[in-house]
Amino acid sequence: MTATQKLSFDVQLSDHARTAAERAEVLANPGFGTYFTDHMISIDYTEGEGWHDARLMPYGPLSLDPATSVFHYAQELFEGLKAYRQSSGAIVMFRPYANAARFNTSAARMAMPALPEDAFVESLELLVQTDRDWVPTAEGHSLYLRPFMIATQPALGVNYPSRTYKYMVIASPAASYFSGGVRPVSVWLSTEYTRAAPGGTGFAKCGGNYAAAFVAQRQAVENGCDQVVWLDAHEHRYVEEMGGMNLFFVFGDKLLTPALTGTLLPGITRDSILTIAGQVGLEVEEGRISIEEWQAGCESGELTEVFACGTAAVITPVGSAKGADRAWTVGDGTPGPVTLKLREELMGIQYGTRPDTHDWIHKI
Ligand code: PMP
Repeated sequence: MTATQKLSFDVQLSDHARTAAERAEVLANPGFGTYFTDHMISIDYTEGEGWHDARLMPYGPLSLDPATSVFHYAQELFEGLKAYRQSSGAIVMFRPYANAARFNTSAARMAMPALPEDAFVESLELLVQTDRDWVPTAEGHSLYLRPFMIATQPALGVNYPSRTYKYMVIASPAASYFSGGVRPVSVWLSTEYTRAAPGGTGFAKCGGNYAAAFVAQRQAVENGCDQVVWLDAHEHRYVEEMGGMNLFFVFGDKLLTPALTGTLLPGITRDSILTIAGQVGLEVEEGRISIEEWQAGCESGELTEVFACGTAAVITPVGSAKGADRAWTVGDGTPGPVTLKLREELMGIQYGTRPDTHDWIHKI
């Protein structure tokens, strides 16, 4: 398929789809990323030929040669977005073209082929439409969509990228990320490890970034914290982002978020909040903040709230921060009004209780 060619999906429905009762049992307690729907999408790419063999097929394992290059050199990338069942009953996705664009930005960095944005969105529509009964109805629940691409050439040469690739989409029903309501998280400031350096892959959603993060996340937990916060590679002073979320700092009615310098992921939730914040009368700035400024701001009372944002957990307050030689509380450690207001606005658009004035909602 070329950029202008229309994709045509071969549809092969599962003959062992779960029964309504089996599905209901999963949806009663879906957790996050544990259960998968009955189907998946697969599209192959061959250098010189383009994208081909677009299929919707029963969910199931892949059979790959052990020499397949993704296993050795991690030429891989992924995306994450959700389908929501709105109060009207409509099933929608939130800003899928933004994910399509980010997918292709990641692909360029990983020397992988771009997938036309319409093909990306169409593949999501087809999977969600086919497995629509898996989109949860419970409040705050959703169907998490995971598009990804792997290098499939069975070859160990490291001098050139793979000549073949596979794009896939799988879907997983998700409970609200933090059961028990909005609970502030505690964060560990990682001065020992670095997530991304200038010229690296920090802005790309590639698996290697996450593989390299586990050891720091484990250290956060060993230090009694929920999540790791990454700092700049050079001085380990300036805040970049949290494990799988971007960060916002609230100074009264002013919001500050780390600028997109190339070393952090350009979150779609982050981008949406920058827009919504202006509408609810908050001033926004993309800049930088050091851990010393963060601590001093909390101690003086100028820095009133800190929150993290991302597709999985939407908006989550940060209640306390800790590093090798420092620890402090943010505000009084409970969710602040700006955090809760922005959360309500954003979820209102996603679940259809607030008007979608930005054309962010994509009906299926
Ligand atoms: N940073 C990282 C490292 C992430 O993995 C994510 C999740 N995709 C985010 C930020 C938030 O991005 P988004 O709002 O697009 O989910």
